[in-house]
Amino acid sequence: MAENQDQEQEQEQEKRVIIVGAGLAGLAIAHGLKKNNIPHLILDRESTPRGRNWGITLSWALPLFTDILPERLASNLRQCQPDLSLPSAVAGKKGVLIRDGSTGKTLAEAHFPVIRRMQIQKTKRALAEGLDVKAGKKLIDIRVLDGGGVEAIFEDGSVERGGVVVGCDGGASAVRRWLLGEKQAAQEVLPFAFMNFAFSLPADKARWLDAEMNPSVDVAAHPKGMYLGLFILDKPDLEKPEGWVFYILATWPIQGEEDETNAENRLERLRAKMGGWADPYKSVVEWLDDGVQIGRDALRIWHPVPWENFGGRVSLAGDAAHSMTFHRGQGGNLAIKDAHEFVATMVKVRDGMPLADAMRVYDEGVRERGEEVEISKQQAIAFHDFERFLESPVVQMGIKPK
Ligand SMILES: Cc1cc2nc3c(=O)[nH]c(=O)nc-3n(C[C@H](O)[C@H](O)[C@H](O)COP(=O)(O)OP(=O)(O)OC[C@H]3O[C@@H](n4cnc5c(N)ncnc54)[C@H](O)[C@@H]3O)c2cc1C
Repeated sequence: MAENQDQEQEQEQEKRVIIVGAGLAGLAIAHGLKKNNIPHLILDRESTPRGRNWGITLSWALPLFTDILPERLASNLRQCQPDLSLPSAVAGKKGVLIRDGSTGKTLAEAHFPVIRRMQIQKTKRALAEGLDVKAGKKLIDIRVLDGGGVEAIFEDGSVERGGVVVGCDGGASAVRRWLLGEKQAAQEVLPFAFMNFAFSLPADKARWLDAEMNPSVDVAAHPKGMYLGLFILDKPDLEKPEGWVFYILATWPIQGEEDETNAENRLERLRAKMGGWADPYKSVVEWLDDGVQIGRDALRIWHPVPWENFGGRVSLAGDAAHSMTFHRGQGGNLAIKDAHEFVATMVKVRDGMPLADAMRVYDEGVRERGEEVEISKQQAIAFHDFERFLESPVVQMGIKPK
């Protein structure tokens, strides 16, 4: 009896999906597999959440997201919003606002029946509930086994065996590096200075900014060749605006040695770029506390190329498979699309389709979606080329996939 149980357990282990990385893609896949009773294991190198935070706009992928999640999460996504009081229909109606940074006037806008702003840390926290995420597990190697199956090897010496490894381990993916080698898997660094940082303001100024800015996405292209976006990150108490957290995304072409080396004087460099900006951007940067923390950042991208998937046993999803800049707001949407497709693929395999055939189709889809990396790169460039901005993908195509 016990022997039978052991055998069953072993067989289940050999079939299970090993999800490396508990970000948006990995967590969504874990929920989708759980919903379909497909054995899986999800691991992440982090033991505590990282400090970095931002918001994403889930637009076209929102129905895929709710489809993959259990009902209790799908019907409660509002808990992940930066501003819990913003209905998703209002967010959709207000949509994406792109202004001329020198006047504050509208350059382009896009409206939707529904979009949802999701704060990335709240989202990861909410999605991790109900899943058994193994923390402190940094993948360092993979072994494809002769008799079938695959092993994932972690820095702490542990080894996990399964049928498939899916690398959902973000822009600098170790699974991608294992599949393609360091050179082919290396990210391209775009020649732009990039700052992403959170800040709060005194109550009166916070209220003013909240009323001035578009509540979902408020970004501007300045004719001098600069991008700046203002967003809400958190409103812990609607009655206490001094505790509201906003964030800025700013990019401009690297100019001079300090941009080149990404010198620590980031606020000084940002302020020096603000001549000729209109409100709300101008005043907000003036009001920033001199001690505001601006971390080191860079715009890194990776265009997918074909990889050998060992009969469908090793693959990628999300930023690991295609990392792009945020200028067209597609990375998170594509991570969800990959997750949805991956789960559908595993369901087909469970129902009898050969793994190699099913995963060939999945991998091709991932790479096709990766064409967005170049579109987003062109969008990033266009935000810094005012004359041609109106010809750019975000104006011509909105924020839908190609
Ligand atoms: C400022 C900013 C704004 C953005 N705005 C938008 C937007 O509006 N719309 C949109 O669609 N997208 C947006 N994005 C993109 C979106 O956030 C990402 O595409 C998405 O979060 C990627 O999710 P992921 O799960 O693929 O990767 P990640 O969230 O990076 O998760 C990877 C996980 O893998 C773990 N990991 C890494 N290495 C290992 C290892 N060796 N072993 C084990 N675990 C490992 C990490 O700890 C992490 O938890 C934005 C991104 C940024 C930075």
